[in-house]
Amino acid sequence: MRRCASVIKGNDNTRLVVISACSGVTNLLVELANGIHQETIRQERLTTLAVIHDEVLAKLPENTSVAQAVNALIDDIATLAEAAATSPSTQLTDSLVACGELLSTHLFTHLLNTQGISAVRFDAREALRTNSLFGKATPQLVETSSLVNEKLRPLCERQVVVTQGFIGADDKGNTTTLGRGGSDYSAALLAEALHADTLEIWTDVPGIYTTDPRVAPNAKPISEISFSEASEMANFGAKILHPSTLLPAMRQEIPVFVGSSKAPQQGGTWIRKTAQRSPLLRALALRSNQTMVTLNSLNMFHAYGFLAEVFNVLARHQISVDLISTSEVSVSLTLDQTDTGGGAPTLPDAALEELSALCTVKVEHGLSLVALIGNHMGETRGTASKIFGAMDQFNVRLICSGASDHNMCFLVNEEDSKPVIQALHERLFE
Ligand code: ASP
Ligand code: MG
Repeated sequence: MRRCASVIKGNDNTRLVVISACSGVTNLLVELANGIHQETIRQERLTTLAVIHDEVLAKLPENTSVAQAVNALIDDIATLAEAAATSPSTQLTDSLVACGELLSTHLFTHLLNTQGISAVRFDAREALRTNSLFGKATPQLVETSSLVNEKLRPLCERQVVVTQGFIGADDKGNTTTLGRGGSDYSAALLAEALHADTLEIWTDVPGIYTTDPRVAPNAKPISEISFSEASEMANFGAKILHPSTLLPAMRQEIPVFVGSSKAPQQGGTWIRKTAQRSPLLRALALRSNQTMVTLNSLNMFHAYGFLAEVFNVLARHQISVDLISTSEVSVSLTLDQTDTGGGAPTLPDAALEELSALCTVKVEHGLSLVALIGNHMGETRGTASKIFGAMDQFNVRLICSGASDHNMCFLVNEEDSKPVIQALHERLFE
């Protein structure tokens, strides 16, 4: 928190600070929200929560009123957790997990004030309007924009405002959340509504790298990247940004900075509408837990309407398709990740049955998607042999290239995924 305060001090233009919960807190709250029946275990979790916040409180001078606010919230959590133990619900879960951000913003606002930065705490639920889809609510942009301009903007003009990421409220005033990791998304939504000049995301990694440095230790930091490239990376599994985060910034063309609050001196990555350099090959992303469905039918041979029928079935079962590759009598596709849990998506039995009436169906798991991200990737003359050369010793199950100028995707066996990334990175980026 002190490091974050110095980041804020370092830039006089900072108007709004959107923060997440203290480390580990949301996970504890989710656990309580799922319903802990055993009173002793529930008490243990509540104590852990209190300790996390008390440790920060103890380091803050003149903390009486903040301590009161924190204790009141811990009491609320105890009441809600007890209710969740008997009848858990998604609405109750949102009310519970929102307390993490409600707590951290109390502490952080006070910390800024003790450091000589005049700051005020604002309850994000007064401005961030969402629908009532608890757990993963959709922001309502028109309403949010007018509430932000009415309630938040005047405060920002006077002093630094601290608010909660991740949480909002529906039109009845019920607390909602934007889904795990949603604080960055909140920040982007508020930046959009305020027409901010820039959005800075201070996280625990020093920006975007050519690939995950834990997989390829020679991964290099990228100082500037375009919105299209960065959103491809987020989509294809790079964990730096919540995949929705860039959308509001792109709509308003707000440059986004990503850096590490633990090492601000290391700099980070600027994401802009257009980057000064747009190299053919920019980065590699990896997404595991992929499901591939292969459909095969002789009826496809020189026929029409077959694919339409197949996609009709998928649409009726609300199955979102990710990659597709077709030949004359078969089509392979991968299924989109639906839940935030990150498990492999499955083809529902009813859909499988309907598809089986049209063709033979094969479903495979244990696959990973390797995405090569770049620019003008339709023009690979001179690089194709390097790309495929690096993959020579691996079995590639599916290749998707051509539809997007910004990516080329390979589906490989799960156990090959990291070696594939390492081989490609060495050949193309080192
Ligand atoms: N605190 C929330 C979570 O852990 C939101 C966030 O971290 O962005 O998911
Ligand atoms: Mg987080």
